[in-house]
Amino acid sequence: MSSSITDILKIKDTSILISKINQKSDIVIGVPHHTPSGTFMMPCKSHIYGDQNTGYIGYNIAKKLGCNFLCACNYFIDSNKNYYDNYSDYYTALEKCRPRYLVEIHGHGVEHCGDDIEISSGCKEQENYALKLKNEILKLIDSEINKDKTNKSLKELKELNINADFDKIYYKAAKSSTIIDERWISYHIELPLLLRIEANEGDIPEKGILFTKILCNSIKNICS
Ligand SMILES: [Zn+2]
Repeated sequence: MSSSITDILKIKDTSILISKINQKSDIVIGVPHHTPSGTFMMPCKSHIYGDQNTGYIGYNIAKKLGCNFLCACNYFIDSNKNYYDNYSDYYTALEKCRPRYLVEIHGHGVEHCGDDIEISSGCKEQENYALKLKNEILKLIDSEINKDKTNKSLKELKELNINADFDKIYYKAAKSSTIIDERWISYHIELPLLLRIEANEGDIPEKGILFTKILCNSIKNICS
């Protein structure tokens, strides 16, 4: 019996690393803190809250782009950090992919930056990469609105604040070893709850699906 990746992402009570490696691609979509919606905590002392539903968003993008997909699910270590030189299997798989680009998908609660999307490339010097991705996303949201002016979800996306100004963002990822690794260009993307969890249902909401499509096309346009 074989399980699909989507089935694996639903598992609540087991730590699993998914590594779907395609060495012909130079892009990695990484999701280091996935838990299914409703699973708030990970069995990891240094990163107790899971980034609910981020695995589905990351996998949708990786599948469409045909690129590498790495996802630590309900994990027992904080896999994009490198405490005490203890490289995680997530990091080891990332190195094996030898990417030019790493796009990491994360999720935050409302506490520190509300409903904002935050993008960081790990330091002020690399901020131009994060800003370029932000501008590409904004451009594609506008072009989708021009095609479908009555779409409510697109209008809601347009109203979201995307912050890629390194000095102003909360989630800088300056201590994330996968993001500050200079062997590749990194994008650390923090998505708010409203793009990840539908009220009462737990699935990705319609505007989250739309955003995923726009993010996917933005990555395709700038990572080439
Ligand atoms: Zn995270």
